[in-house]
Amino acid sequence: MAKKVPTEADKKMEELVSLCRRRGFIFQSSLIYGGINSCWDYGPLGVELKNNIKRFWWKSMTQDRDDIEGLDASIIMHPRVWEASGHVAGFHDPLVDCKQCKHRFRADEVNSPACPDCGGELTEPRQFNLMFKTFVGPVEEEAALVYLRPETAQGIYVNFLNVLGPSRQKIPFGIAQIGKAFRNEITPGNFVFRMREFEQMEMQYFVRPGTDEQWFDYWKEQRMQWYLNLGIRKEKLRIHEHTHKELAHYARKALDIEYEFPFGWKELEGVHNRTDFDLSRHQEYSSKDLTYFDQELNQHYVPYIIETSAGVDRTLLTCLIDAYEVENPGKKEERTVLRLSPKIAPIKAAILPLVNRDGMPDVAKKIADELRPHLKIFYDDGGSIGRRYRRQDEAGTPFGITVDSQTLQDETVTLRERDSMSQIRVKISELKDALLKRIAI
Ligand code: ATP
Repeated sequence: MAKKVPTEADKKMEELVSLCRRRGFIFQSSLIYGGINSCWDYGPLGVELKNNIKRFWWKSMTQDRDDIEGLDASIIMHPRVWEASGHVAGFHDPLVDCKQCKHRFRADEVNSPACPDCGGELTEPRQFNLMFKTFVGPVEEEAALVYLRPETAQGIYVNFLNVLGPSRQKIPFGIAQIGKAFRNEITPGNFVFRMREFEQMEMQYFVRPGTDEQWFDYWKEQRMQWYLNLGIRKEKLRIHEHTHKELAHYARKALDIEYEFPFGWKELEGVHNRTDFDLSRHQEYSSKDLTYFDQELNQHYVPYIIETSAGVDRTLLTCLIDAYEVENPGKKEERTVLRLSPKIAPIKAAILPLVNRDGMPDVAKKIADELRPHLKIFYDDGGSIGRRYRRQDEAGTPFGITVDSQTLQDETVTLRERDSMSQIRVKISELKDALLKRIAI
């Protein structure tokens, strides 16, 4: 079997995977048992980063505006939900196998008639349903077959009226949700880009029919701006509008927000005009009235839905890739740095005594204790100051605070900025405000 030669993209991804393991961002799941394909665990820094990204999204949806409500629906839903949604009948990917090396591919991702890995002959495509099945009830044979949700959106549709009543929202309004989704992907890979268990941040915006196109354009702008606010480089983002042929059965219009990963331009988020498809189908399958009464029009109708559907893990991978840089490679001054936006950086500041004597650790610990309730900080007195700075650069920590001999005389510390490595002196009494101003959460 021909062995694949690693490309530049493979090497860049390998470097990032290695940094993530080394610094405690992401580990392969169940590694002591040899690992399990496509499942990853977020370590101490990874979970901080992930939570910060989710918080940033949640705030933009449910706090910075008053027309979107939050929801946290269950992962296991009534099996009829997936019949109504079209997933039982249609959530398939075409699968092909290589007759020679037995590798498996999504037919729509293979551009040639022969195997991309060894050139062997491929089988005819077979349809493969991506939903994970499981059983509810103590006796497997008698228990009800249920699915692990392949998207969070359906939890929003079935709760449309539940949320509408108590929140007293009026159309247009939205419901936002963050949660796990599961897909038995044929070809998971590229680190946390495509997994079988992942997290989504989805928002469904309910609108009056006829206003859907203008809301679609509105959400396209909003969502692009969100990635820019997250600190992602503009030139690495683009919008791919779906052609008529690419449109899903439920969509009138759709676009992907894409990022240029080392392995190519790939989808980060989908924005879809789903029309009244979802609520009409749930109305039909549940026999419940899911119409909305519009007081202005004095009319009942099934709202149209504009969906924004983003992946938490893909966003996190994007943040890491976009922030990762090796300065002066191969030279003495080589430095690996994660230029994460301070807003989402796992640790906001490292507190470092220059040396472990003359009372410097005590002063540094006191500063750490004072800052801890306000910011995620890290105290480190192990190793040379240069090594400690480098460790924090790799962790994406935007600020380093060093207690040195001058501190003992005039109660000032050094504030080092990760990206420029510039240093200024700040009074200890003004440190908290200086940091909060720079982080601007
Ligand atoms: P793809 O074409 O990459 O399979 P999709 O079009 O099926 O994605 P959607 O169903 O629109 O994706 O899901 C919305 C978002 O959820 C995606 O943009 C992506 O960020 C995330 N997502 C979907 N599948 C996965 C997965 N297997 N692993 C990680 N994130 C995922």
